[in-house]
Amino acid sequence: MRIKKFTCINCGAPKVNEYKSPYIVCDYCGSFTDIDYTLGLDFWKEDPVKTEIYKAKKIELAHRMAYAVNTGNKSEHNKLQNYFWDFYYKTYPEYLPPSIDNEEKYNIYIKVCADSSTNYAFDKSWEQKSLKLNELQNYLTYYKIGDESKVNTEGFFHMAGYYIKFTKDGMKDFYDNPEYSIMHELLPLQVHLKMKLSMFVQVWLPYLTDTDADMFLKMTGFKLQYVDMEKPSGKKGQCSHCKNEIFIPEGSFKVYCENCHKKNIVQTFFTCSSCGAENNVPDNLSKPIECAFCGTENRLIKALFG
Ligand SMILES: [Zn+2]
Ligand SMILES: [Zn+2]
Ligand SMILES: [Zn+2]
Repeated sequence: MRIKKFTCINCGAPKVNEYKSPYIVCDYCGSFTDIDYTLGLDFWKEDPVKTEIYKAKKIELAHRMAYAVNTGNKSEHNKLQNYFWDFYYKTYPEYLPPSIDNEEKYNIYIKVCADSSTNYAFDKSWEQKSLKLNELQNYLTYYKIGDESKVNTEGFFHMAGYYIKFTKDGMKDFYDNPEYSIMHELLPLQVHLKMKLSMFVQVWLPYLTDTDADMFLKMTGFKLQYVDMEKPSGKKGQCSHCKNEIFIPEGSFKVYCENCHKKNIVQTFFTCSSCGAENNVPDNLSKPIECAFCGTENRLIKALFG
């Protein structure tokens, strides 16, 4: 079969099951591991009226947030941020990371998004950088190809390069902050970065020529490679949550159901490679696991994919 190449950031396994959401969840260890930006774009384009309403609301909120920053009203800003993030995910539920699978996690997640955005908005050291970004955006020039507006190549890549660096730095700051440590579990840094960049890609792609778009997708890591892969052996099963059919590849411990977006635990024990004793499978499958009986380190999935 010919598939898009995704390699799990935790266990190294390829994605083998067909997926319907922009988020890629590993079929072997259940980690949330990547984003298929093209599927995300489909949801964005699916209902143009909805997207227009969203964009208009976002602009209105941005004005009110800017006013809150200018008047030093941090709590008002935070309220608006909470409103915005909730509105965003209610408008596009497909964009909600699959790791956020209950209301409690949802509330924590929205709060972290809002708090961190407010902190950045009121942080002087970030202010300079975002002013610079605005400036680069304001200096962009456009030209027409037929009816379509296209952005000038040089100015765009200058701005995009700045934005990517800006986002990476901000992300590093964010994940280093113990206040947001829950995010390591909810949304791993690498995936979060890709998610942010995919939002940026979505906004700009219509303004790029095919050549520029191609270069831009490569630069942001969204240019998907296709690879030939033999479908691994495995068996059919039934999702324990929604009863839909799922494919369980051989060697898998957790399979994500693409229908209901929940994980199925398919193996709860593993056999120690050294003494043969049965051990419980831990939550985090990506780390080497010591056998409880003989102490030998076992690698559960890495062993399969090197
Ligand atoms: Zn994995
Ligand atoms: Zn299901
Ligand atoms: Zn052992």
